[in-house]
Amino acid sequence: MKPVLSVSGLCHSSRKMNESCYFFKEQAKTPMEYSTGCLICGNELLYSVCPTTETCFYCGATKETNTYCESGHFICDACHHGTANDLIERYCCTTDSTSPLLLALKLMGSPLLKMHGPEHHFLVPAVLLAAFHNLTDAEGNRATERIQEARRRAEDVKGGFCGFHGACGAAIGTGIFMSLITGATPLSDTERKQSNMITAESLRVIAEKGGARCCKRESLWAIITAVEYVQREFMVAFPVDMPPPCPFSDLNSECLRERCAFFGCGVAPA
Ligand SMILES: [Zn+2]
Ligand SMILES: [Zn+2]
Repeated sequence: MKPVLSVSGLCHSSRKMNESCYFFKEQAKTPMEYSTGCLICGNELLYSVCPTTETCFYCGATKETNTYCESGHFICDACHHGTANDLIERYCCTTDSTSPLLLALKLMGSPLLKMHGPEHHFLVPAVLLAAFHNLTDAEGNRATERIQEARRRAEDVKGGFCGFHGACGAAIGTGIFMSLITGATPLSDTERKQSNMITAESLRVIAEKGGARCCKRESLWAIITAVEYVQREFMVAFPVDMPPPCPFSDLNSECLRERCAFFGCGVAPA
């Protein structure tokens, strides 16, 4: 199957929208905008006298609850009240998805993830590690320990690295992912090269796309670049997905709009 969205542009050879449709079709605006009602779709919340058992939209945990939305959405207390990194870790350690792009888009829709923020530096390696392990089952299931280590490393990459240090944290996230799957250290040869190469390729793509920082755009390009790198260097093919039109553009005053490939998605980037 040909890639539908690559670092060199867009093509329309294939559309795979299943997971993303579930999330985006129900939303005219992003969940970050809902101050009342369901945090996923904005619909009115319903309350029942007798509790029912529901499955959390994010982490898949089943809990008894008296509150749910009329579309059936339920978010458990842990996913509702934790930090963004808590949610990313919990979700990526439990998902069976093999699509890093759709994993990232689903998590980006949570109100715990801000429009911009250093949580995206963990988001990128976390979704890549989860999808990679679900796809390859490499070395048994080491996804959880690697995702937790990715969180520890990503927390060293502070907000604003792109402008102040010349290295976007989403791109560094691809290097964290690579060093974890190869076991790279500062003393490694090939593995250290691969970690630096994937970061370099991500940084180049992000830089060439231009614009002020957009943590959503940079994260998506970093993931797409990493997917292409892994396919080329390791012969591991992630599923290819056409992301839905970006639901975050109205929240970003610096949005490139028609100049961004994800705006309206389906229009080739300038
Ligand atoms: Zn809902
Ligand atoms: Zn949950």
